[in-house]
Amino acid sequence: MTTTAGPLLRDDDELAEVAARYAEAVTPTMAALIDPDDANDPIALQFVPDRRELDRRPDELDDPIGDERHTPVPGIVHRYPDRVLLMPLTVCPVYCRFCFRRETVGGPASALLDDAALDAALDYVANNDAIWEVILSGGDPLILSERRLRSLLTRLRAIPHVRIIRVHTRVPLVSPERVTDELVGSLAAAGPVYLALHANHAREFTAAGRAALQRLADRGIAMISQTVLLRDVNDSVDALAALMRTFVENRVKPYYLHHLDQAPGTAHFRVPVEEGRALVTALRGTLSGLCQPTYVLDIPGGWGKSPLGPDYLDDGAEGTRVRDYRGRRHPLNDP
Ligand SMILES: *Cc1c(COP(=O)(O)O)cnc(C)c1O
Ligand code: SF4
Repeated sequence: MTTTAGPLLRDDDELAEVAARYAEAVTPTMAALIDPDDANDPIALQFVPDRRELDRRPDELDDPIGDERHTPVPGIVHRYPDRVLLMPLTVCPVYCRFCFRRETVGGPASALLDDAALDAALDYVANNDAIWEVILSGGDPLILSERRLRSLLTRLRAIPHVRIIRVHTRVPLVSPERVTDELVGSLAAAGPVYLALHANHAREFTAAGRAALQRLADRGIAMISQTVLLRDVNDSVDALAALMRTFVENRVKPYYLHHLDQAPGTAHFRVPVEEGRALVTALRGTLSGLCQPTYVLDIPGGWGKSPLGPDYLDDGAEGTRVRDYRGRRHPLNDP
């Protein structure tokens, strides 16, 4: 049996098994970017099912970041005191082959939170005045109908202690046509809204995607980025540098570079932490400060996110030293 990657070949039983096991979808905008002659096409690797997903490792977890133990009511994940995730749906326009919630997102039970559950989730937020920020996630909240999204944003905005609404999404790049004036208007009216854009390769930025980002930025939607560090997709200084610069050129401030979560069937995407640290060290030496993401790990089990460094301080014989962007060490002189 061959185990080489053949992401675009579908006519065999293994790939049918992958498709039966994990949700599959790609939008026309993303499909049009795939180069069928490139076995390591960074778009295909992200969205097209691969037989290597059947390889489940013992350290992989159905719920890698421990959402379940922090779910007080359906649709809410409350891990940190001042902010919650609110997941109004578990459907996405694309299904990333490395998705950290792949056992729930696009799964058999996936759909919209029903009205009663949404009421209960909003009551939970309204009754906890320590909640300063609500992060809409899922699933991709920007594939809600415009009516539902507007209603949800309006109800959140009516809760006085919720000062910030953040929306985690891939829509502006994978389905730019969904970023209508009406959608942008709903987000702008609910401001301050931060849109956290998930993208992993500079090629995801089509002309239509860039135009969608411009519509959002022009209406005052602040934008930050999220990227997952992925083997063969973006595990080089050149790929990450191009991606971070492309974010900044489109007014999206790089925010997180995520170490890959240990979701089932994702071992072929894994990049070791030491390699990730070396990559972000190289970015610091190469790119504008505007282009620097923080490299973070979501600690398995639900303990939250921690920066993975690199560290710039070390203790030498003559005391603490600090490393510069070219790797040279200098005394810290911190009396
Ligand atoms: C990732 C995450 C957040 C957001 O973390 P930030 O560091 O604020 O970006 C909030 N709540 C939960 C449950 C999360 O998993
Ligand atoms: S967009 Fe996010 S939630 Fe949706 S499949 Fe990709 S990683 Fe999972």
